[in-house]
Amino acid sequence: MIQKSNFKKSIKNKNAKTITASQYLKEILNGNISYLSRAITLIESTNKNDKVKATNLIKSCLAYTNNSIRIGITGAPGVGKSTFIEALGTLLTSLNKKVAVLAIDPSSSVHKGSILGDKTRMDNLVNDKNAFIRPSPAGDSLGGVAHKTKEAIILCEAAGYDIILIETVGVGQSEVLVKSMVDFFLLLKISGAGDELQGIKRGIIEMADAIVINKADGENVKSANFAKNEFSRALHLYPQKENHWIPKVTTCSALNNHGIEEVWQIVLAFVQLTKSNNWFKNNRVNQNKNWLIQSINQQLQDDFYTHKKIKIELKKQIQNIENHESTPFEATQKLIALYRKK
Ligand code: GDP
Repeated sequence: MIQKSNFKKSIKNKNAKTITASQYLKEILNGNISYLSRAITLIESTNKNDKVKATNLIKSCLAYTNNSIRIGITGAPGVGKSTFIEALGTLLTSLNKKVAVLAIDPSSSVHKGSILGDKTRMDNLVNDKNAFIRPSPAGDSLGGVAHKTKEAIILCEAAGYDIILIETVGVGQSEVLVKSMVDFFLLLKISGAGDELQGIKRGIIEMADAIVINKADGENVKSANFAKNEFSRALHLYPQKENHWIPKVTTCSALNNHGIEEVWQIVLAFVQLTKSNNWFKNNRVNQNKNWLIQSINQQLQDDFYTHKKIKIELKKQIQNIENHESTPFEATQKLIALYRKK
């Protein structure tokens, strides 16, 4: 819990409201973890003044994001994501890298629970001064949560974190969102009873830059190798990726720290290839372009639904639809017209 105690020490008497964006920037660039935590809380705030400050801060941090590697890690609950992140993160800090671990939790938009909330699952990393772990922010929508995570990436990079690991539970939309903000996307699996490809969405295989079969230890070694071959065969059926990277399949035991170094070598090979063919840079630019569109959508949505008159009229229109007095199309036209008049 190093991060928390540092935080208390350094801004104990400082009201967060009095900290300016430039003070935040200065301290973040110095690698001050307490200010970094505070700044992430700031971007998660829905207060209007905080939002303005957060926007300025993010903008000034953007210049410092170039040397990082952003890695998305997804997998079903129980495959060993936390254990894997603990192992990979510890390897990376032993190589003198600074590692930030963030999360996008689809469930946190519904209830307040969040992955990484239980940090005790990452005992080593939590106490490692070169690691920063932040649970998934809770939010009204998955898109909103993802947006905050993207901004948190920028802040972490400005604070000098070279490797950003973003964890998500492999259910539904969250993988697509994580993919849209990382350089490298890793799918963690465990071997099953020979039906490796069953129950796995085609889209996720297509997104993966590496498939890592975890828990390849003890009696599982044989089935993990079998799964590895199955996935390798399946990946051959996909067309070549635009970045010319051929996705890799490997096995590991996060628990016993086996095969983790190999995973890191795969990431390095990917970065080397995609930097040399310029995809790495172009991909980030494209991600930013998409981010712009998403951000506009999000703000328009927020603005619309929090508008006083709209709130009242929307209730009325929903009732009209229930009573068969209006059609969705008609109701939309009315609401939009009202919004435009504001
Ligand atoms: P998550 O839900 O994906 O984050 O999974 P966890 O990291 O919490 O791991 C779920 C369970 O699998 C825990 O009991 C871990 O100890 C266990 N586990 C994780 N990695 C391995 C591994 O490589 N081998 C074995 N045998 N068990 C593992």
